Amino acid sequence: MNLGVSVARRLRSPEFDQWLQGAYRTGYCSNPVRLSGESITLAGKSGEVLAQFSSAAQPDGLTYVRCGNRRARRCASCSHEYKGDTWHMIMAGAAGGMKGVPETISAHPMVFLTLTAPSFGAVHTLGRTRRSGVCAHGKVRACECDHAADDPMLGEPVCVDCYDYAGHIAWQFHAPELWRRFTILLRRRLARELGMTNRAASEIVRLQFAKVAEFQRRGAVHFHAIVRLDGVDDLEPFPAPPLGVTESVLVKAIRGAARDVVLTALRVPGEAEERVLRWGTQMDVQAIVQREGLDGSLSDRAVAAYIAKYATKATEDIGGTGRRVHLDRLKAVASQIAEGADSESAYVLLGKWAHMLGFRGHFSTKSRRYSVTLGSLRGARRQWRLERLLERAGAEDHLHSEEARVIGSWSFAGMGWRSDGDRALALEASRAVRDWRDNRRERLIQREGNEDA
Ligand SMILES: [Zn+2]
Ligand SMILES: [Zn+2]
Ligand SMILES: [Zn+2]
Repeated sequence: MNLGVSVARRLRSPEFDQWLQGAYRTGYCSNPVRLSGESITLAGKSGEVLAQFSSAAQPDGLTYVRCGNRRARRCASCSHEYKGDTWHMIMAGAAGGMKGVPETISAHPMVFLTLTAPSFGAVHTLGRTRRSGVCAHGKVRACECDHAADDPMLGEPVCVDCYDYAGHIAWQFHAPELWRRFTILLRRRLARELGMTNRAASEIVRLQFAKVAEFQRRGAVHFHAIVRLDGVDDLEPFPAPPLGVTESVLVKAIRGAARDVVLTALRVPGEAEERVLRWGTQMDVQAIVQREGLDGSLSDRAVAAYIAKYATKATEDIGGTGRRVHLDRLKAVASQIAEGADSESAYVLLGKWAHMLGFRGHFSTKSRRYSVTLGSLRGARRQWRLERLLERAGAEDHLHSEEARVIGSWSFAGMGWRSDGDRALALEASRAVRDWRDNRRERLIQREGNEDA
């Protein structure tokens, strides 16, 4: 069926409002799960039926649940929700004053850190280099072109034969472990900076962080992280560190640990030598300093908001625009290493992670006490929905979660919207909602900025 006809049919259907309600409940997901069945909300104590929901009463006899995919290419709505949660998680731990994290947190020593992968060979970049000579294959050694910002050549190796594909995959495969080693060394360096033993330091300061992974154009991940120092106090969730523990101590310890941490990679099949892995030299370490307002009390929430926004811009989608030649070659090399590996070698796993160019880490991670968990944000949303449902059913007395429980019996009826028209309508609504939310967040960031000014 023609798309226009399909859209018109839905728009004119008598059940349109009801259909739109259902689409709204999925957050206008692009590829929702279709379910049929019913759920009943019961009062916890008496077992009295408070509300009932059945797909049989819905358009097409179906109900929809969002797909929850975090990749923007798969679902713009669900990945946007995930990014929003990540933003709140990062923002709460950097600025406090939200989601149960106290505002005093913003006065703790805090650093914004970017760690990159090392170079595996020159790639085409925006910054133009001076004449670099030619390699053994007759190619220039560094990009000497003048690229437009959207040039698909950006991120492609200058010489494919010089580019260390196996090294790139081996590094990416070990990157989560390199990060873990970095945090261990960081704790030691912190103790050294404080002139204490590791043990004594661990009794007065705790390291908290939130980190986000992002694929660069060349197909290498880099990490953005907020690193914060807390004190140690079992009675308080976010205690301040002792006075002598300052940003400069933290910055020094981070610089040293990031520069010095090394990890010996598993030997790549067919190669004689093991590689020693490190971070790239392009690291960035910036103290987030509390800026005092006129009354001496304002914390720099604006800085935190910008950083949270910047950090969550990080995308799990590989290679944005770009030509796919380089990325395809990276995937092929990852698969080759997996095939050539002994059955006991961890590189066997590369077969499964070739599509991620060897990266098997999580895209956002945090230490336990950095701020709220993404799970608690999702839980709060579920609770909010349950409360609205109970309100509609006139059962407000049971608004506290312990007093109501939901029993569902659902069967899977397929993936995606029933027609291209339904999908087009959901995508359009999703775009409108995202624009609205982004504007609202932008205004919030600006307002915080003005208050601080
Ligand atoms: Zn979705
Ligand atoms: Zn170039
Ligand atoms: Zn070459």
